[in-house]
Amino acid sequence: MKGWFFATGGESRIVLATTNKGKLKEIALLLREHISDLRPLSEFSNAEIDEVGASYRENALIKARAAFKLSGWASLADDSGFEVAALGGQPGLNSARWAEKEDGKRDFSYAIARIEKKLEEKAVSESEAKFVCALALVRCDGEECVVQAEVAGSVVFPPRGDNGFGYDPIFVASSEKITFAEMPARAKELISHRAKAFKMLCSKCFTPQA
Ligand code: IMP
Repeated sequence: MKGWFFATGGESRIVLATTNKGKLKEIALLLREHISDLRPLSEFSNAEIDEVGASYRENALIKARAAFKLSGWASLADDSGFEVAALGGQPGLNSARWAEKEDGKRDFSYAIARIEKKLEEKAVSESEAKFVCALALVRCDGEECVVQAEVAGSVVFPPRGDNGFGYDPIFVASSEKITFAEMPARAKELISHRAKAFKMLCSKCFTPQA
């Protein structure tokens, strides 16, 4: 354990304000050497947090502040999205909502089909795309830190790969030939928007323990 003793205001424990299993898995991997006790907010509360912010940063901060209030622990939140250039940056902030079907359940193959249909309507076969990730940390002492990072690439059809989550099967990063969903988790971890944001968070907000 390397330890980021001062990172969370004196404790090596963090509550994570997300119910997204894909994000939980990736964040646990990214924090594995640093935080000894990482818990989902669901262990403290079942409250729904409204994402009413006008940006990824605002939404991440709304979630981290709410988790801090509900748990009393240092809290970390991720707000992220997928932006397709030919669709004017959609689905963007609505990335999770685009997967909601009429019964309210989320299905990302449905969201992916919506993107494909919209591109077809525009007679576009290729488009640049990016993933964006904002991370907000509220420490035990109330200090707040927000960072944002992105990974550029393109959107591809048909979807490829079974790893990852969300829009991973239709995204190829500029430096790669395979989709995020075809990469092992450790390879995605080296280049993803989330990994880049974590690096920024570490250097900006965390003090390594000697
Ligand atoms: P939110 O941050 O809870 O609003 O959800 C963002 C949505 O963006 C997620 O539900 C995913 O569908 C999508 N997303 C964010 N990061 C990734 C990723 O790394 N891979 C695939 N989809 C992602």
